[in-house]
Amino acid sequence: MPVPSRLPFEVLRAPAEMRARAEDLRRDGLRIAVVPTMGYLHDGHLSLLRAARANADVVVLTIFVNPTQFGPNEDLARYPRDEAGDLEKARACGLDLAFCPDAAAMYPPGSQTFVEVRELSSPLCGERRPGHFAGVATVVTKLFHITRPHVAFFGEKDYQQLAVIRRMTRDLDLGIEIVGVPIVREADGLAMSSRNVYLTPEERAQALSLSRGLAAAEAAFRAGERDAAALVAAARAPIDAAPLARIDYVELRDAEELTPMTRVDGRAVLALAVFFGKTRLIDNRVLVPSRR
Ligand code: AMP
Repeated sequence: MPVPSRLPFEVLRAPAEMRARAEDLRRDGLRIAVVPTMGYLHDGHLSLLRAARANADVVVLTIFVNPTQFGPNEDLARYPRDEAGDLEKARACGLDLAFCPDAAAMYPPGSQTFVEVRELSSPLCGERRPGHFAGVATVVTKLFHITRPHVAFFGEKDYQQLAVIRRMTRDLDLGIEIVGVPIVREADGLAMSSRNVYLTPEERAQALSLSRGLAAAEAAFRAGERDAAALVAAARAPIDAAPLARIDYVELRDAEELTPMTRVDGRAVLALAVFFGKTRLIDNRVLVPSRR
Protein backbone atom coordinates (compact mmCIF):
# COMPACT_ATOMS: atom_id res chain seq x y z
CA MET A 1 0.00 0.00 0.00
CA PRO A 2 1.46 3.35 -0.98
CA VAL A 3 2.13 5.59 2.00
CA PRO A 4 0.50 9.01 1.64
CA SER A 5 3.04 11.79 1.38
CA ARG A 6 2.61 15.19 2.99
CA LEU A 7 4.17 17.23 0.19
CA PRO A 8 3.37 17.04 -3.51
CA PHE A 9 6.04 14.95 -5.24
CA GLU A 10 8.56 17.12 -6.99
CA VAL A 11 11.59 16.61 -9.24
CA LEU A 12 14.43 19.09 -8.89
CA ARG A 13 17.44 19.24 -11.20
CA ALA A 14 19.44 22.31 -10.16
CA PRO A 15 21.76 21.83 -7.15
CA ALA A 16 21.12 25.36 -5.88
CA GLU A 17 17.35 24.87 -5.99
CA MET A 18 17.64 21.51 -4.19
CA ARG A 19 19.82 23.01 -1.47
CA ALA A 20 17.47 25.97 -0.97
CA ARG A 21 14.52 23.57 -0.65
CA ALA A 22 16.42 21.42 1.85
CA GLU A 23 17.32 24.51 3.90
CA ASP A 24 13.63 25.51 3.99
CA LEU A 25 12.62 22.04 5.16
CA ARG A 26 15.29 22.13 7.88
CA ARG A 27 14.10 25.54 9.00
CA ASP A 28 10.62 24.03 9.34
CA GLY A 29 12.12 21.48 11.73
CA LEU A 30 11.67 18.50 9.38
CA ARG A 31 13.99 15.49 9.41
CA ILE A 32 15.43 14.81 5.94
CA ALA A 33 16.53 11.41 4.65
CA VAL A 34 18.47 10.94 1.42
CA VAL A 35 18.75 7.79 -0.68
CA PRO A 36 21.48 8.21 -3.32
CA THR A 37 21.11 5.96 -6.39
CA MET A 38 22.11 5.70 -10.02
CA GLY A 39 18.48 4.96 -10.96
CA TYR A 40 16.96 2.01 -12.83
CA LEU A 41 15.27 1.20 -9.55
CA HIS A 42 14.62 -2.34 -8.38
CA ASP A 43 13.32 -3.79 -5.11
CA GLY A 44 16.74 -3.31 -3.46
CA HIS A 45 16.48 0.43 -4.00
CA LEU A 46 12.84 0.39 -2.89
CA SER A 47 13.76 -1.22 0.42
CA LEU A 48 16.14 1.71 1.03
CA LEU A 49 13.34 4.15 0.16
CA ARG A 50 10.90 2.40 2.51
CA ALA A 51 13.44 2.37 5.34
CA ALA A 52 14.02 6.08 4.74
CA ARG A 53 10.28 6.78 4.62
CA ALA A 54 9.85 5.14 8.02
CA ASN A 55 12.72 7.14 9.53
CA ALA A 56 12.26 10.73 8.35
CA ASP A 57 9.69 13.42 7.56
CA VAL A 58 10.98 14.08 4.07
CA VAL A 59 12.70 11.56 1.78
CA VAL A 60 14.89 12.75 -1.08
CA LEU A 61 15.75 10.20 -3.76
CA THR A 62 18.76 11.17 -5.83
CA ILE A 63 19.25 9.70 -9.28
CA PHE A 64 22.61 10.43 -10.84
CA VAL A 65 24.79 8.15 -12.95
CA ASN A 66 28.04 9.54 -11.64
CA PRO A 67 30.72 9.62 -14.33
CA THR A 68 33.63 10.01 -11.90
CA GLN A 69 33.07 6.56 -10.38
CA PHE A 70 33.34 4.75 -13.72
CA GLY A 71 36.67 3.72 -15.20
CA PRO A 72 37.49 4.47 -18.86
CA ASN A 73 36.61 0.90 -19.98
CA GLU A 74 33.50 0.52 -17.82
CA ASP A 75 29.79 0.71 -18.62
CA LEU A 76 29.01 4.43 -18.12
CA ALA A 77 27.63 4.91 -21.65
CA ARG A 78 25.40 1.83 -21.57
CA TYR A 79 24.37 1.99 -17.90
CA PRO A 80 20.58 1.30 -17.89
CA ARG A 81 18.32 4.33 -17.40
CA ASP A 82 14.56 4.77 -16.98
CA GLU A 83 13.91 8.06 -15.23
CA ALA A 84 10.16 8.12 -15.89
CA GLY A 85 9.75 4.59 -14.50
CA ASP A 86 11.95 5.41 -11.51
CA LEU A 87 9.92 8.52 -10.63
CA GLU A 88 6.70 6.52 -10.86
CA LYS A 89 8.09 3.95 -8.39
CA ALA A 90 9.34 6.69 -6.09
CA ARG A 91 5.93 8.33 -6.09
CA ALA A 92 4.29 4.98 -5.27
CA CYS A 93 6.65 4.67 -2.27
CA GLY A 94 5.28 7.96 -0.92
CA LEU A 95 8.39 9.96 -1.70
CA ASP A 96 8.56 13.74 -1.48
CA LEU A 97 11.43 14.86 -3.64
CA ALA A 98 13.68 13.51 -6.34
CA PHE A 99 16.93 15.23 -7.20
CA CYS A 100 18.03 14.34 -10.74
CA PRO A 101 20.90 16.58 -11.84
CA ASP A 102 22.83 16.19 -15.06
CA ALA A 103 26.60 15.74 -15.15
CA ALA A 104 27.25 19.36 -16.15
CA ALA A 105 25.37 20.60 -13.07
CA MET A 106 27.34 18.31 -10.75
CA TYR A 107 30.75 18.81 -12.40
CA PRO A 108 30.91 22.23 -14.02
CA PRO A 109 34.04 22.89 -16.09
CA GLY A 110 37.07 23.32 -13.85
CA SER A 111 35.90 20.85 -11.15
CA GLN A 112 39.04 19.33 -9.65
CA THR A 113 38.36 18.47 -6.01
CA PHE A 114 38.11 14.87 -4.82
CA VAL A 115 37.43 13.20 -1.48
CA GLU A 116 39.70 10.24 -0.77
CA VAL A 117 39.18 7.62 1.95
CA ARG A 118 42.58 5.99 1.78
CA GLU A 119 42.94 2.54 3.33
CA LEU A 120 39.32 1.44 3.04
CA SER A 121 39.31 2.30 -0.67
CA SER A 122 42.49 0.35 -1.46
CA PRO A 123 41.57 -3.37 -1.49
CA LEU A 124 38.78 -5.39 -3.16
CA CYS A 125 36.80 -3.27 -5.67
CA GLY A 126 39.12 -0.30 -5.10
CA GLU A 127 42.12 -2.32 -6.24
CA ARG A 128 40.35 -3.46 -9.41
CA ARG A 129 38.59 -0.16 -10.15
CA PRO A 130 41.19 2.57 -9.52
CA GLY A 131 39.56 5.89 -8.66
CA HIS A 132 36.12 4.32 -8.18
CA PHE A 133 35.76 5.10 -4.48
CA ALA A 134 37.19 8.60 -4.84
CA GLY A 135 34.39 9.16 -7.38
CA VAL A 136 31.82 7.70 -4.97
CA ALA A 137 33.08 9.60 -1.92
CA THR A 138 33.17 12.85 -3.88
CA VAL A 139 29.70 12.57 -5.34
CA VAL A 140 28.19 11.45 -2.02
CA THR A 141 29.83 14.43 -0.28
CA LYS A 142 28.34 16.73 -2.91
CA LEU A 143 24.92 15.08 -2.64
CA PHE A 144 25.06 15.46 1.15
CA HIS A 145 25.84 19.16 0.85
CA ILE A 146 23.11 19.67 -1.71
CA THR A 147 20.33 17.70 0.01
CA ARG A 148 21.32 18.58 3.61
CA PRO A 149 20.10 15.27 5.12
CA HIS A 150 19.95 14.24 8.76
CA VAL A 151 20.18 10.58 7.72
CA ALA A 152 21.30 8.70 4.59
CA PHE A 153 20.54 5.12 3.51
CA PHE A 154 22.91 2.79 1.65
CA GLY A 155 22.70 -0.90 0.75
CA GLU A 156 24.92 -3.55 2.30
CA LYS A 157 25.17 -5.06 -1.18
CA ASP A 158 27.90 -2.48 -1.87
CA TYR A 159 29.67 -3.40 1.33
CA GLN A 160 32.93 -1.56 0.72
CA GLN A 161 31.06 1.54 -0.46
CA LEU A 162 29.09 1.59 2.79
CA ALA A 163 32.32 1.22 4.79
CA VAL A 164 33.94 4.08 2.83
CA ILE A 165 30.94 6.37 3.33
CA ARG A 166 30.67 5.62 7.04
CA ARG A 167 34.38 6.42 7.52
CA MET A 168 34.22 9.55 5.38
CA THR A 169 31.21 10.80 7.33
CA ARG A 170 33.06 10.22 10.59
CA ASP A 171 36.44 11.57 9.44
CA LEU A 172 34.99 14.75 7.94
CA ASP A 173 32.54 15.35 10.83
CA LEU A 174 29.64 15.50 8.42
CA GLY A 175 27.15 14.91 11.24
CA ILE A 176 24.90 12.67 9.13
CA GLU A 177 23.59 9.33 10.38
CA ILE A 178 24.48 6.54 7.94
CA VAL A 179 22.10 3.57 7.86
CA GLY A 180 22.99 0.29 6.13
CA VAL A 181 20.13 -1.75 4.66
CA PRO A 182 20.34 -5.56 4.14
CA ILE A 183 20.84 -7.02 0.66
CA VAL A 184 17.61 -7.69 -1.24
CA ARG A 185 17.74 -10.83 -3.40
CA GLU A 186 15.70 -12.38 -6.18
CA ALA A 187 13.67 -15.42 -5.09
CA ASP A 188 16.48 -17.72 -6.24
CA GLY A 189 19.19 -15.85 -4.30
CA LEU A 190 20.77 -13.54 -6.90
CA ALA A 191 21.45 -10.14 -5.32
CA MET A 192 19.34 -7.51 -7.08
CA SER A 193 21.34 -5.11 -9.22
CA SER A 194 20.57 -2.70 -12.04
CA ARG A 195 23.32 -4.53 -13.95
CA ASN A 196 21.45 -7.87 -13.87
CA VAL A 197 19.60 -6.77 -17.03
CA TYR A 198 22.86 -7.16 -18.96
CA LEU A 199 22.93 -10.92 -18.28
CA THR A 200 21.99 -13.44 -20.99
CA PRO A 201 19.71 -16.28 -19.80
CA GLU A 202 22.75 -18.61 -19.54
CA GLU A 203 24.73 -16.02 -17.57
CA ARG A 204 21.71 -15.32 -15.37
CA ALA A 205 21.45 -19.03 -14.52
CA GLN A 206 25.17 -19.29 -13.74
CA ALA A 207 25.14 -16.06 -11.71
CA LEU A 208 23.40 -18.08 -9.01
CA SER A 209 26.83 -19.54 -8.26
CA LEU A 210 27.68 -16.30 -6.39
CA SER A 211 25.01 -16.61 -3.71
CA ARG A 212 25.53 -20.39 -3.65
CA GLY A 213 29.24 -19.92 -3.05
CA LEU A 214 28.56 -17.49 -0.21
CA ALA A 215 25.99 -19.87 1.28
CA ALA A 216 28.46 -22.77 1.08
CA ALA A 217 31.13 -20.71 2.83
CA GLU A 218 28.66 -19.65 5.49
CA ALA A 219 27.63 -23.29 6.05
CA ALA A 220 31.29 -24.24 6.48
CA PHE A 221 31.74 -21.31 8.86
CA ARG A 222 28.73 -22.39 10.93
CA ALA A 223 30.13 -25.91 11.02
CA GLY A 224 33.25 -24.47 12.69
CA GLU A 225 35.63 -23.68 9.81
CA ARG A 226 37.69 -20.61 10.70
CA ASP A 227 40.51 -20.83 8.17
CA ALA A 228 40.16 -17.99 5.65
CA ALA A 229 41.66 -19.96 2.74
CA ALA A 230 39.23 -22.85 3.34
CA LEU A 231 36.24 -20.47 3.50
CA VAL A 232 37.33 -18.72 0.31
CA ALA A 233 37.78 -22.11 -1.38
CA ALA A 234 34.24 -23.10 -0.33
CA ALA A 235 32.88 -19.87 -1.81
CA ARG A 236 34.88 -20.25 -5.03
CA ALA A 237 33.94 -23.88 -5.78
CA PRO A 238 30.49 -23.28 -7.36
CA ILE A 239 31.76 -20.19 -9.19
CA ASP A 240 34.78 -22.04 -10.60
CA ALA A 241 32.33 -24.68 -11.82
CA ALA A 242 30.31 -22.09 -13.80
CA PRO A 243 31.91 -21.92 -17.26
CA LEU A 244 30.76 -18.36 -18.06
CA ALA A 245 31.98 -16.93 -14.72
CA ARG A 246 35.36 -15.18 -14.47
CA ILE A 247 36.32 -14.41 -10.88
CA ASP A 248 37.66 -10.90 -10.28
CA TYR A 249 38.19 -11.61 -6.58
CA VAL A 250 36.88 -13.69 -3.69
CA GLU A 251 38.36 -12.48 -0.41
CA LEU A 252 37.78 -12.70 3.29
CA ARG A 253 38.53 -9.53 5.23
CA ASP A 254 37.99 -7.87 8.58
CA ALA A 255 34.44 -6.50 8.49
CA GLU A 256 35.39 -3.02 9.75
CA GLU A 257 38.87 -2.24 8.40
CA LEU A 258 38.79 -4.54 5.35
CA THR A 259 42.27 -5.79 6.26
CA PRO A 260 43.22 -9.38 5.30
CA MET A 261 42.46 -12.21 7.73
CA THR A 262 43.96 -15.66 7.82
CA ARG A 263 41.64 -16.91 10.56
CA VAL A 264 38.19 -15.59 11.39
CA ASP A 265 38.55 -14.43 14.97
CA GLY A 266 36.19 -11.44 14.75
CA ARG A 267 33.51 -10.08 12.41
CA ALA A 268 34.55 -10.80 8.84
CA VAL A 269 33.18 -10.11 5.38
CA LEU A 270 33.44 -12.57 2.55
CA ALA A 271 33.27 -10.36 -0.53
CA LEU A 272 33.39 -11.26 -4.19
CA ALA A 273 33.23 -9.78 -7.67
CA VAL A 274 32.66 -11.95 -10.72
CA PHE A 275 32.48 -11.12 -14.43
CA PHE A 276 29.99 -12.65 -16.83
CA GLY A 277 31.19 -11.31 -20.16
CA LYS A 278 31.54 -7.57 -19.56
CA THR A 279 29.03 -7.59 -16.69
CA ARG A 280 30.60 -7.39 -13.27
CA LEU A 281 28.50 -8.59 -10.32
CA ILE A 282 29.32 -8.19 -6.63
CA ASP A 283 27.97 -9.89 -3.54
CA ASN A 284 29.05 -10.47 0.05
CA ARG A 285 28.22 -12.17 3.32
CA VAL A 286 29.18 -11.03 6.81
CA LEU A 287 30.42 -13.82 9.08
CA VAL A 288 30.06 -13.25 12.81
CA PRO A 289 31.71 -15.69 15.23
CA SER A 290 29.30 -16.40 18.08
CA ARG A 291 30.65 -15.61 21.54
CA ARG A 292 31.05 -18.67 23.71
P1 AMP B 1 23.08 1.98 -7.25
O1 AMP B 1 21.93 2.60 -7.95
O2 AMP B 1 23.47 0.63 -7.79
O3 AMP B 1 24.24 2.93 -7.08
O4 AMP B 1 22.60 1.66 -5.78
C1 AMP B 1 22.03 2.68 -4.98
C2 AMP B 1 21.90 2.17 -3.58
O5 AMP B 1 21.09 1.01 -3.55
C3 AMP B 1 23.26 1.76 -2.97
O6 AMP B 1 23.29 2.18 -1.61
C4 AMP B 1 23.23 0.26 -3.09
O7 AMP B 1 24.02 -0.39 -2.11
C5 AMP B 1 21.76 -0.03 -2.88
N1 AMP B 1 21.43 -1.33 -3.46
C6 AMP B 1 21.64 -1.75 -4.72
N2 AMP B 1 21.26 -3.02 -4.87
C7 AMP B 1 20.79 -3.43 -3.65
C8 AMP B 1 20.26 -4.66 -3.15
N3 AMP B 1 20.11 -5.73 -3.92
N4 AMP B 1 19.89 -4.70 -1.86
C9 AMP B 1 20.04 -3.61 -1.05
N5 AMP B 1 20.52 -2.43 -1.48
C10 AMP B 1 20.90 -2.34 -2.76
